Amino acid sequence: MKKTEDIFETPIDFLKGVGPTRASQLKKEIGVHTFGDLLTHFPFRYVDKTQFHKIRGLQESNNGVQIKGILRRLELIGEGRKKRLVGRFRDETGSIELVWFKGATYLQKTLKVGVEYIAYGKVTRFSKKLNIAHPEMELVVERNLVDVATLAPVYPSTELLNKKGLDAKGIRRLTKALLEELSKVNIPENLPDYIVNKFRFPSRFEALKMIHFPKTQKELQAARNRLKFEELFFLQLRLLQLKKNRKDALRGYVFDKIGAYFNNFYQKNLPFELTGAQKRVVKEIRKDLRTGKQMNRLLQGDVGSGKTIVGLMAMLIALDNGFQACLMAPTEILAQQHYNSIQNYVKGLAVRVAFLSGSVKGKKRKELLRLLELGEIHIIVGTHALIEDPVKFHNLGLAITDEQHRFGVVQRSKLWKKANPLMPHILVMTATPIPRTLSMTYYGDLDISVIDELPPGRKEIKTLHKTESGRLRVIGFMREEIAKGRQVYVVYPLIEESETLDLLNLEQGYETLQREFPPPEFQISVVHGRMKPADKEFEMQRFVKGQTQIMVATTVIEVGVNVPNASVMIIENTERFGLSQLHQLRGRVGRGAEQSYCILLSSYKLTQEAKERIQTMVGTNDGFKIAEADLRLRGPGNMEGTQQSGMISFKIADLVKDGRILQTAREIAHRILDDDFHLERSEHLPIKKFMLTYAKKIKGWGRIS
Ligand code: ADP
Ligand code: MG
Repeated sequence: MKKTEDIFETPIDFLKGVGPTRASQLKKEIGVHTFGDLLTHFPFRYVDKTQFHKIRGLQESNNGVQIKGILRRLELIGEGRKKRLVGRFRDETGSIELVWFKGATYLQKTLKVGVEYIAYGKVTRFSKKLNIAHPEMELVVERNLVDVATLAPVYPSTELLNKKGLDAKGIRRLTKALLEELSKVNIPENLPDYIVNKFRFPSRFEALKMIHFPKTQKELQAARNRLKFEELFFLQLRLLQLKKNRKDALRGYVFDKIGAYFNNFYQKNLPFELTGAQKRVVKEIRKDLRTGKQMNRLLQGDVGSGKTIVGLMAMLIALDNGFQACLMAPTEILAQQHYNSIQNYVKGLAVRVAFLSGSVKGKKRKELLRLLELGEIHIIVGTHALIEDPVKFHNLGLAITDEQHRFGVVQRSKLWKKANPLMPHILVMTATPIPRTLSMTYYGDLDISVIDELPPGRKEIKTLHKTESGRLRVIGFMREEIAKGRQVYVVYPLIEESETLDLLNLEQGYETLQREFPPPEFQISVVHGRMKPADKEFEMQRFVKGQTQIMVATTVIEVGVNVPNASVMIIENTERFGLSQLHQLRGRVGRGAEQSYCILLSSYKLTQEAKERIQTMVGTNDGFKIAEADLRLRGPGNMEGTQQSGMISFKIADLVKDGRILQTAREIAHRILDDDFHLERSEHLPIKKFMLTYAKKIKGWGRIS
């Protein structure tokens, strides 16, 4: 008996009932090339063939229904393209019309009037009467209950395949034939016995049979559990293998000293106690830096969770070991803010910090570059100017990037091309939390740290939703807050396609506000993307310095500005923002001691999805919860940060619903690799064999292969 993975690789052409034409259609239309492909072309739903409807109770529906009755009449009507076969189908409660446009002549010959049938199809309404077009017809006497699964699988198919007889029913037939074929072979297990037993999984072959032809809901559930686990488990195993391999390959500087820079800062300058989460992450980073492997770590933490100080402490470790460090931010303003806060943090310590961006020019720039190359500058903070060509470090040991949005850490690490002699350690900080299921998958081969705790004493930002009718009260509220000395953001969406219109919106809004809040008592800043950088900067600075009370802006302020005195965030056209963007915007307030507010203005009419987004924002301040909701609403493919890395397509697992299984799969994969990395133990042989073919086959993710 053959017992190898090879059977799955058998070309589909070899299956009974599949000739060369069908084979090529299966390949082209649904990517089924091999036996294995057909087996994992899973049903997307099942029809419960135990349920029969009564004709009298039928209603229009998108799902197919099954009725049992007698075919009463059958006639061909019409000519040429209008020719159709019409039948009348009756049970004890009433009758309904059945109609076929295709294959009418053939069907007229084969269907038998006066005989009991089971008809299955969608009920539609045609000139006020219900009918079923193209029902599947099955003779009651032929329904062999042993043979027909109670839950009949329905497969994704295409129009072309449908035409060629490979509709759901056709594919069902092929799959059935294939499973029969395979039952003669001994299908190899790909999971160790101890896992199969632990979770009481069906065997691999049983699971495949049961997913296609389940006899009960329970069987279906068991099969799904196992196949989802399998899919997630092997991907995690692969990711963790890659992670370790890369770590082994990438040597890094050894930072094993904690010296005066770090200690002086910690003892003299640290302005508050670190949160538990910050301490944990500093430890994780310290551990990485000692290993002699290059660190590639993603640090996730909600806005205001205190990532900067963690980054600074990592940089001080680099300094203690005789190296330079840098911190790169996506915009000039954000870089400048980082520069200021870092200078503040290290005040009085012998740390030389410099700032570099496109705006640093001429002599000043030349001198700065000279000092950097000499190693006279310890920490440099800046924009992407840091990775431009003329910038040479004396010895860069740690590069930190603060991202508004998520990028792959690996892509980021490529920026630091100039290994000298080794690549610097890499830390990427992001304020856009990624749901765990996504990060385990898309960044599953990277190290991830999470700051999941806010510094103590933060007041929750109160979030309210208002429609146009509440606008006057919102203006009144702004007035009260400004009277208390607070500042207010008013943010408008700006989408490139409708840029001109959006700008008009913003300008009208600005004019309205000017009428409500006239000078000289009130001052308003305006910032949008069409302004010259210098003007933007000027307006921004007026707000930062408290010279203006209101800042009207497009989403440019999403990135980074820190004005602790601003305590009200008003968002216009909320329905046009995505969840993660709303969360980022809200994060601009709540930075000071005062109670902060976020007011979401939208039109009265909202789509269901927009409603859910707004409810989520009103309901929670937790970035991780918001990310989970975002994933649920938009699906994994549309989340920010996943597009860049390309999609991993799952056959059966679902990142939105299968978080638990994923977590378990990852833990088990971890455990296995920890004590048997090369899968050499006999109990791991099934995994090893399977991985040989599997590793080549993961589709759609450049980074894995
Ligand atoms: P992030 O970059 O994660 O959004 P920051 O690093 O800018 O957050 O920190 C936000 C604010 O919280 C800063 O004013 C910082 O000084 C303060 N902060 C950070 N950690 C703590 C802490 N452990 N206790 C109190 N305040 C803290
Ligand atoms: Mg920050």
